[in-house]
Amino acid sequence: MLQTPYYLIDKSRLLQNLEKIAWLREASGAKALLALKCFSTWGVFDFMRDYMDGTTSSSLYELRLGAEKFGKETHAYSVGWADHEIDEAISYADKIIFNSLGQLDRFAGRSTKPTGLRLNPRFSTSGFDLADPARPFSRLGEWDMDRLTQALDRISGVMIHYNCENRDFELFSDQLSRIETEFAPFLRQLDWISLGGGIHFTGDDYPLQRLADRLKAFSDSLGVQVYLEPGEASITKSTTLEVSVLDIIDNGKKVAIVDSSIEAHMLDLLIYRETAKLPQQGDHAYQIAGKTCLAGDIFGDARFPAPLQIGDRISIDDAAGYTMVKKNWFNGVKMPSIAIRELDGTVTLARDFGYEDFVAALG
Ligand SMILES: *Cc1c(COP(=O)(O)O)cnc(C)c1O
Repeated sequence: MLQTPYYLIDKSRLLQNLEKIAWLREASGAKALLALKCFSTWGVFDFMRDYMDGTTSSSLYELRLGAEKFGKETHAYSVGWADHEIDEAISYADKIIFNSLGQLDRFAGRSTKPTGLRLNPRFSTSGFDLADPARPFSRLGEWDMDRLTQALDRISGVMIHYNCENRDFELFSDQLSRIETEFAPFLRQLDWISLGGGIHFTGDDYPLQRLADRLKAFSDSLGVQVYLEPGEASITKSTTLEVSVLDIIDNGKKVAIVDSSIEAHMLDLLIYRETAKLPQQGDHAYQIAGKTCLAGDIFGDARFPAPLQIGDRISIDDAAGYTMVKKNWFNGVKMPSIAIRELDGTVTLARDFGYEDFVAALG
């Protein structure tokens, strides 16, 4: 048994998403690039590669990771490229995508690679201001037709990222129609359009066939290659965070303290005020809390069939997306190891973190 805490990536669960992605590519003609900002755990890239077309990135380091560890097609996007990194970025990229006309003007001449610009349609499905690319004064992409037209002689495509965990096919389809209505004459002059991430098409009951038909109609009517950039949809429900109970406190509510921390190991949940996916079967209720000194280091409420004991193991579900990429050394809490459950059930340790990593990260 591995020492907790550790993230456990289950390849058979990951495979369920990957098979849907592969099916959608085949049925729609769209290409699928893994969005590395959601998930960069490259130990499973060998496994994912056959089901996807490549990666897309948000920075030079993600870009390089995609090129070196995943391969295939590598899209390079960044909100802001620096003078000292642009040439290296271009060297790894199959397509380089600029966030603004200003960046395009500054750097496009340095590249002979296919070039794109981020288009902001000024609406999105995000209900959370922090993550809403269509928020007032958004810096994410261009929308003014005059500015888009100025870019036209230098770009072959656009990236439009405006969905956020969108489970609603009708909403996706309606918003795609809005994009067609507003931008079709411009889009028709391009070779490729990336529709970004945020479409939750690997979720249960998502109408995949209708999505495939809709994407195909979109790409046929505009004469473009469509790309999708699934992050969360690629890895959803594939991974757990395995923790152990260290102490149980009863101050009017039973609290189980575990050898992990939401702040350090599942930070995204805290930022978006969500609770962790915890066991909910049984009569024995506990609040599951982390071991840092942050008062609100709380994963959420759980239920168990029997009273918890010190040393009991708890599995926290859906721990892959925006989780491992955000883990940090707050409070010096040991970082969870990364383990992989192979298709035959054997579990292998991919990476362990120790005191040396803590020290090396800080000086
Ligand atoms: C975040 C992001 C993605 C991935 O989004 P998911 O919601 O994880 O699918 C894809 N493309 C771009 C440009 C992004 O910023």
